[in-house]
This record gives sequence, C-alpha cells and structure tokens, in this order.
Amino acid sequence: MMGYGKLRAKNQRVFAANESSYPLLIQGHFGSFQFLHAMANEGDKPQETLERMMGWAELTYRVGSGEFTATTRLNDVDIPALAQLATRLTPKNNPNKYQLGYLFDISTRNDKRMREVAFGSLQHMIQDSFAHCHAQRDEKNPAKIVAFYAYPHQNSEGHAQFDNQLEWVSNGSHANDKVNPVVIGHNLFKFKQQGVKWDNGVKKYLAQYLQLVTEEEDERKPMASYPGPEECLSKPQK
Ligand SMILES: [Zn+2]
Repeated sequence: MMGYGKLRAKNQRVFAANESSYPLLIQGHFGSFQFLHAMANEGDKPQETLERMMGWAELTYRVGSGEFTATTRLNDVDIPALAQLATRLTPKNNPNKYQLGYLFDISTRNDKRMREVAFGSLQHMIQDSFAHCHAQRDEKNPAKIVAFYAYPHQNSEGHAQFDNQLEWVSNGSHANDKVNPVVIGHNLFKFKQQGVKWDNGVKKYLAQYLQLVTEEEDERKPMASYPGPEECLSKPQK
C-alpha cells in the first residue's frame, strides 16, 4: 500500500484518469473513495464529500438492514449521491463487477456477512470523521465539520498516531446529547434493530453529525480539502 501511496502522491492526474482500473482499496486511500474514511481528494469541495458520505451511509445502512441481496448491482441501487461513482467504477465489459456481495464480502458473498460488513463500513466512516488526521471538526461544536483532509501527502505514522483518540471514547457515556462516535454508533445499531427505515429518521439523525459549518458561523469555513495539519504530514517526533 505504501508503494502505491508514494506513487499516487506524485501522479494524481494519471491516477484520476485511470481510476476504474485501480482496486477500490487503493481508491479509498488515494482516490475518489477517500470519503470512506471521511477524507477527500485535495481541492474537493467539502459539500461533495459530505454528499458522498451521506450516500455511502444510506447504502451501508440499507444493506446492513437487509434491503438488498448480495447479487444486487451497485449500479441498480437508487442513491443519487453514489450514482456517478458507481458508473465510473463499473467496467463496461463487466457490469456485475460491483454487485453488493462483491463490494462488501468478496470472499463468500454471503448475504448475512455482507450486511455485517456494510454496517461496519458505516461505523468506520463515522468514527473516522472524528479522527484528527481525517477531518477537522469545529472546536466549539464538534457536530460540525470544517474540512476534510487528503491522504496522499500525509505520513502514514503521523496519520495513525491520532486514530485512537480515547478522549472521544471516554466521553462516550450513553448520554445522547454528547457528540461522539460511540453514542452515534450505538444509536445507529438501535435504529437498525428497531427496523427504522433510512428515510424515517436515520438520515435526519446522522445528518446532525455530518454537517458543515456555515460561513456565518466562521468566515474561514468550510474549507476545500487539503493535506491537513503538520502533525499529520510528518513522522511523529519520538
Ligand atoms: Zn478509515
């Protein structure tokens, strides 16, 4: 992966032009699928990243809730925010490539496992949106996002040192008014268990924690995606 990383940082344009030929895992770190980790391509408008994240949240919540089978094609799922990406990803000569089973459970393509992995991907994306080298949340109101960062110019060790920020977890009593990924993840599980549909409250609930600051709230913001703060770009000082 790191070999790919250095290569991609140098050749972003080449990569962008041939995107569909790279595995999704690579795209998740260096291409248009960085939103899976609450990140974005450098220069991307935060609004677009946010829309893709909400689209992915809808897909993973609905897959996780059993709305689709492993043979449903990504192209056939009606989620406008993902339609463009699905089309770009799907090779013309292999329209079945991104069946949901392939996307979420490549080894067994089993419906149950696919549902679990999809729901895990949702939790992962939300958790990443609170990680220091993934996105900048507003200090005054952490429900709001200021910027998404771009991974290719980050240092992998600098990035990783902030991926286990325990203060968010220890904040995670079950008080529902606290903004942290533990409470949000717990509530998403509850919604799923209770059979709440995406459009009947889940979307609205999640949108509270995936929203951008407005310009009225702070004139710096929201900012186009960029590599991130210095501590994410270099090796940590020992
Ligand atoms: Zn991640």
